Amino acid sequence: MTRRTVAEHISRVTDLLHGLDSLPACDATLAEALGRVLAADVHSPVDLPPFRNSQMDGYAVDAASLAAGTTTLPVRATIAAGESAPSHIAGTAIKIMTGAPIPEGADCVVPVEDTTTADGQVTVLRSRAAGDFVREAGSDVHTGDLLLPAGVVLGPRHIAALAAVGLTSTRVRRRPRVAVITTGTELVEGGLPLGPGQIYDSNGITLASCARANGAEVDSIARSSDDPDTFRKLLTVATDYADVVLTSGGVSMGDFEVVRAVLEPLGGEFGHVAMQPGGPQGTTVVDGVPVLSFPGNPVSTLVSFEVFARPLLRKAAGLPPIVAEELPVVDAVTSPPGKRQFLRGRREGGQVKLVSGPGSHLVAGMAWADVLLDIPAEVTTLVAGSTVTVWAL
Ligand code: AMP
Ligand code: MG
Repeated sequence: MTRRTVAEHISRVTDLLHGLDSLPACDATLAEALGRVLAADVHSPVDLPPFRNSQMDGYAVDAASLAAGTTTLPVRATIAAGESAPSHIAGTAIKIMTGAPIPEGADCVVPVEDTTTADGQVTVLRSRAAGDFVREAGSDVHTGDLLLPAGVVLGPRHIAALAAVGLTSTRVRRRPRVAVITTGTELVEGGLPLGPGQIYDSNGITLASCARANGAEVDSIARSSDDPDTFRKLLTVATDYADVVLTSGGVSMGDFEVVRAVLEPLGGEFGHVAMQPGGPQGTTVVDGVPVLSFPGNPVSTLVSFEVFARPLLRKAAGLPPIVAEELPVVDAVTSPPGKRQFLRGRREGGQVKLVSGPGSHLVAGMAWADVLLDIPAEVTTLVAGSTVTVWAL
């Protein structure tokens, strides 16, 4: 039975999960790429715009003709977006639509608003200089220029840039694969009636949601009774698939601690971390796959994930770290000595207020929280207005 500080356990988990840092890259279509992390720099394969084109609906002319004082020009042709341009003849105008190629020899566009037309002639009401309303080829990005750097978390605007240069897929970091196994003979799947002594399994979907929210992929959630053979079988399936397995429940001092009973003989380290909630913790490597075992109380499970798994999964996925904030507490807070406390709180007007109680079963109360207050082990009292470290949930 090991005893550790939170920092020591973080260090143990960090060692175990080091393999997550070198996940291979893979291809994603642009439709799949949203929220993924770019694995390599992307250079533009084309000029953007690919050709010189009009920024306005108007008339393509040569500015020199206008400068010479000619304000009424014959309209020689009309060119729509998607057509190729006829060449320009000095002293004439070509009616042009936004996005249509600028005719060779023309050098500016007079917006339609600045013209009048009669009898096939256009009269320009306002003089224009060369380059006006002309979008030059490559003025957005040139062939070979850096379009997006590796590490970008692809949002809609990045996907727009990739699509505009004609790319249909891109290299992204492979998401860490997480398998979730919840344990407890009392657990029932939501939607089914509860028998005596039964509760709904919330940790399964909670851990899967935690993992997905932090860049991981979760293909299924397994639920085991407290029977070791059942757990063992589900563990084999999980380690076949996953880069990391998360388990909930069955790690403390009761009579039916299935996770501990199965994993300790495989070399698992089970013990106590000086924190509340989330004290009982286990770590094992099964067939080369790290298994993090969290206690089953729903708040303990969630806090365990946030403290131990979240930073590493985010790093593996290439997502930015969650940065702690320092906020004043609205009311005084007391905390037992010797254990780092992660209390549920809510930000309000630049301060933080405790919500729900300290009990690690208060899963509904946790839904009202948006931060964890991180109270060091040696701190027993915080007076109202003093500053506390908080972590966004
Ligand atoms: P354990 O860590 O297995 O001793 O479980 C501690 C407490 O958490 C018990 O009250 C369990 O019923 C509850 N619990 C365990 N697993 C889950 C789960 N997956 N969903 C909701 N509650 C759970
Ligand atoms: Mg249990």
